[in-house]
Amino acid sequence: MKMVKFIDAHVHLGSIPYNKVEWGSFAEYQSISKKLDIERYCVVPIGLPENFVDNSTPNNKMVLQELKRDDSIIPIYWFNVFDLPKSIDKRYKAVKFHPDIGEVSINDKRVVDFVGKMGLPLFAHTNESKDYSNLGLISELARKVSVPVIAVHSGSVTRTFFRLDNYRFPDNVYFETSGIQYAIILKKIYNMFGAERIVFGSDYPFGDPRVSLAMIDTLNLSNKEHELVMRNNISGILNIK
Ligand SMILES: [Zn+2]
Repeated sequence: MKMVKFIDAHVHLGSIPYNKVEWGSFAEYQSISKKLDIERYCVVPIGLPENFVDNSTPNNKMVLQELKRDDSIIPIYWFNVFDLPKSIDKRYKAVKFHPDIGEVSINDKRVVDFVGKMGLPLFAHTNESKDYSNLGLISELARKVSVPVIAVHSGSVTRTFFRLDNYRFPDNVYFETSGIQYAIILKKIYNMFGAERIVFGSDYPFGDPRVSLAMIDTLNLSNKEHELVMRNNISGILNIK
């Protein structure tokens, strides 16, 4: 069987509507990813401004609908602690949490309990400049659950570089490459944890896989390390072929 080349661990389905313009489209993502040999992608719905204003859940169903047309999609369920489902469709391979909806801490008991109940890997949006979404909270949550925990954006902002030393990350924490403000942050993560703990993600349409690839290029990885970051880490986390 032919091995999948690259996997993008973080993509949003849909576009960002702003002043009557739709920014990005899944069709555009599909054509970019094809050129870059990205053969599979972890897809969550797009979080629209109203989801953040009224604490509502982005449209998870659209991901399963799109899966019928594109079997490269690996569906990820966006959960919202104000609207928790009793169960989720078996096709979802992981769950995603965004602490900006309701400004809920990553290590909140509702998050820990839901992740424990689902037993699926967790993607959590992180931003080191916010009290409820910094990497310290990811490391606390990761100690309370037995699944892999992926820090989407790896803390994102400059202060991440300085604060990484303040935290003790258990082995089930992984760092995702989209939305990182400066290359030096990713370089430091690589120095501290190695390629085994880094996963390639684009955050399209906010980010672009070409930006993340350039970031990864700054690490000067060996072929084996590159395969870990671009495919093997995430396929192991999600237990997919
Ligand atoms: Zn995202």
